[in-house]
Amino acid sequence: MPEKNADYYIKKFAQLRIDRSHGRPAPHKPILLLSIIELIERGVILTNEIELTPEIISTFLSYWNALYPEQKGIVALPFFHLKSDGFWHLMPNDGYEKSFNLIRHIKSSYQIRDMVKYAYLDSELFELLSADKSRTMFRRVIIDNYFDFEEKKWLLQAVNLSREALKYEHLLIAEASLPYSVNKPKEKIRVKEKVREVGFRHVIMSIYNYTCSVCNMRILTLEGASVVDAAHIIPFSVSANDDIRNGIALCKLHHWSFDEGLLSIDENYRVMTTPLLSAQRPTEWLLTELSNKQIMLPQNETLYPAQEALHYHRENKFLK
Ligand SMILES: [Zn+2]
Repeated sequence: MPEKNADYYIKKFAQLRIDRSHGRPAPHKPILLLSIIELIERGVILTNEIELTPEIISTFLSYWNALYPEQKGIVALPFFHLKSDGFWHLMPNDGYEKSFNLIRHIKSSYQIRDMVKYAYLDSELFELLSADKSRTMFRRVIIDNYFDFEEKKWLLQAVNLSREALKYEHLLIAEASLPYSVNKPKEKIRVKEKVREVGFRHVIMSIYNYTCSVCNMRILTLEGASVVDAAHIIPFSVSANDDIRNGIALCKLHHWSFDEGLLSIDENYRVMTTPLLSAQRPTEWLLTELSNKQIMLPQNETLYPAQEALHYHRENKFLK
């Protein structure tokens, strides 16, 4: 048995068993591995029990759709077939223990969810991917071996964006331990807009678990699309402030209603609806029925929306 060290897995990564019959290596497995690496780096995958979550699917599709917009990316294929490479294993759901070897065609993520509890890597490999330095190396091996020049260029930029956004996310978390301040230092604005947007969204979604704070709606499709937005309480155009406490997770309807001033939030974190709405069923009632409802707040009290920011919203946006 060869020793399962970094060299062993680098060789494995460089020689994935993939279909080359279409003139170029099929990119499914490389893109899945890049997605797994990114989610380990971001702390979204924390243990070596890798479920086919919306986060994996949306990360996979964000790479896929940018590189191959004309072709449908099906994450279920590599999630299943990577098991032939020897370092990726599938834990079957009850009743599916014997059926993996009989399966020839995987069609959808729903099929995977039925059959598979989670996937797991060789523990040696998971450990290597959890360390900064070796993770960078493995990522590089994949990018160098399976993509052409233009794709490589794009992938390196995407990896860079993801890392910058992660740094920004960490900065926002660190900043939330300081007293909230409405006025932000100017230097923050120098962070690239895209980096800011991605970092702010990731941090708010993880704190609110993709759930609308006002109505508790949480719809996350298997394609990773979410009904919930990361909203600014004082608009970014006014405040230039991505402080977590100037943020809140809101579904599309309540984000819009909040921005239009139809909804606000009071000193006790209860929903306010504008008196301009009638309680008429069935239309405006959908909003007015939420009056006085306690909003869903982050577990950690220090990350609650800042009352200074909510005060601004009540005074300047809310239609009284
Ligand atoms: Zn909502």
